[in-house]
Amino acid sequence: MVKNVLDQALIEGAAMIPYGEVATYIPELGKADKNQLGICIFTRNGKQFSAGDTKVRFSMQSISKVVALMVALETCGFETVFKHVGMEPSGDAFNSLVKLEISSGYPYNPMINSGAIAICSYIEPELTFNEMLRRTRKVCSDPDIVLDRDVYHSEMAHTSRNRAIAYLLESKGVITGNVERVLELYVKLCSLSVTAESLASLGLLLANGGVQPETGEAVLRPDTVRVVKTIMTTCGMYDGSGEFAVRVGIPTKSGVGGGLLSVVDQRMGIGIFGPALDKKGNSVAGIRMLEYLSSQLGLHLFNDESKDVIYRRLETQLSEEESL
Ligand code: GLN
Repeated sequence: MVKNVLDQALIEGAAMIPYGEVATYIPELGKADKNQLGICIFTRNGKQFSAGDTKVRFSMQSISKVVALMVALETCGFETVFKHVGMEPSGDAFNSLVKLEISSGYPYNPMINSGAIAICSYIEPELTFNEMLRRTRKVCSDPDIVLDRDVYHSEMAHTSRNRAIAYLLESKGVITGNVERVLELYVKLCSLSVTAESLASLGLLLANGGVQPETGEAVLRPDTVRVVKTIMTTCGMYDGSGEFAVRVGIPTKSGVGGGLLSVVDQRMGIGIFGPALDKKGNSVAGIRMLEYLSSQLGLHLFNDESKDVIYRRLETQLSEEESL
């Protein structure tokens, strides 16, 4: 039954692909096949469901902002992270500079470029890129994550806006270290290659309060996980976050590589790959699939039925099925 719902979700999502385009402002991303689409669900009770292109590697892009936020919270602490980065949705495009100049001068939140670049400036003096790679592999349970060098060099050659943001942040005293090294770390994290499966694993880790369900290992602190999930809910889809929260109601973070990382709290992680993007830089097919799943499986944060009823129904469905 869940597998049928997933297959139908793939059909619903595929119908949206003609309305989206792959990102081309990073030339290497423009080479993606916009018809690719995959979805993976990993549940807390150990079931895994997949449909479509779930093993294809693509760059994390802004989904790495979730990992950077986690690491910064655990390494530098809440007060440092949020001293110069806000917790409010910006209502602007992910790469906008506008509010940096006209309001406080601080980034609105860690899920947009300015916020993530500021957060990378806190991480950069503390941890090497290799350590960040190791931690990304760990939270995604995916030892095969590597730096996609083609994507990295392509973005570094076309990153004027991010460079402008970084130097503006330096002028405001938000970045105090070496700006070019911070920018390098930010773009390297964006260029890590994942699959829909790695994102479903990360989603499940967050859904399970930072504890790896298979091993019982506490990988992240509960307070880190709470902050990350809350900010994904309010800011994860940039200036599309409000409408997405109303229609879908599943904490999610998108990236312009076409990835979506979703967390159904206490229940499951969902990973999606669909590189055709809407105007805001979010996967068009991915959003449609999540909307469909949310309504079919009762996954909205504020579902009409009580969560218990929905959860029990889901568990019954799951126990009747074979894991794929
Ligand atoms: N690397 C991309 C950029 O900085 C990430 C943006 C995104 O995924 N929305 O523009």
